[in-house]
Amino acid sequence: MRIYVDFDDCLCETAKAFSELAVEMFDKHVPYENIKFFELDKSFDLDADQFERFMIKGHEPDVLLSYEETPGASKVINEWITQGHDVSIITGRPFSSYEPSRKWLDDHGLKDVKLYCLNKYGRDSFIKNSDFSLELEDYYKMKFDFAIEDSPKAFRFFDHLPDLKVLVFDRPWNRECTFPNDNYTRCFDWESIQKVYTEHEKIARFSH
Ligand SMILES: [Mg+2]
Repeated sequence: MRIYVDFDDCLCETAKAFSELAVEMFDKHVPYENIKFFELDKSFDLDADQFERFMIKGHEPDVLLSYEETPGASKVINEWITQGHDVSIITGRPFSSYEPSRKWLDDHGLKDVKLYCLNKYGRDSFIKNSDFSLELEDYYKMKFDFAIEDSPKAFRFFDHLPDLKVLVFDRPWNRECTFPNDNYTRCFDWESIQKVYTEHEKIARFSH
């Protein structure tokens, strides 16, 4: 099977790191559970200038490398790879973050996953004038059977794949959202992702 995995807040605990960074940089105290909006300027009440500095700081190599792994992520992904599945990490991080992101994956035992930077969130919600390694038209040529994503803003990238099963990693900013269709399932950790995946794979195998 071909599996799409988002990076931030699926593989690693980015929002928790941003919560600490907001205290350090702006004395803004918003604990993880209170990050209700995927738009971090909204969640942390930052003006445009603060938000830009926040994003730049959050994408510095040392900061990216310090993000904690979401428990179980690399174990489950490596099991999939061992079983012959094809795993691609499709991140909305800009290409300038590619090298530290690649290093983070390698350091966390994920040498065999592919990494692509796709402009998921438009030019305003990220570091300005960023480049991305995966063009939209090339992304739309890729096929996936399974996706793991936390951001409702990225769900539109699944509209062209009617059979795609989407596992939404439960986060405070996606609890209010309505899923586009029945292919979406909320998952609370990598253990349950693994379970849903295994069930789905069994069904898929018998129906072919
Ligand atoms: Mg994410």
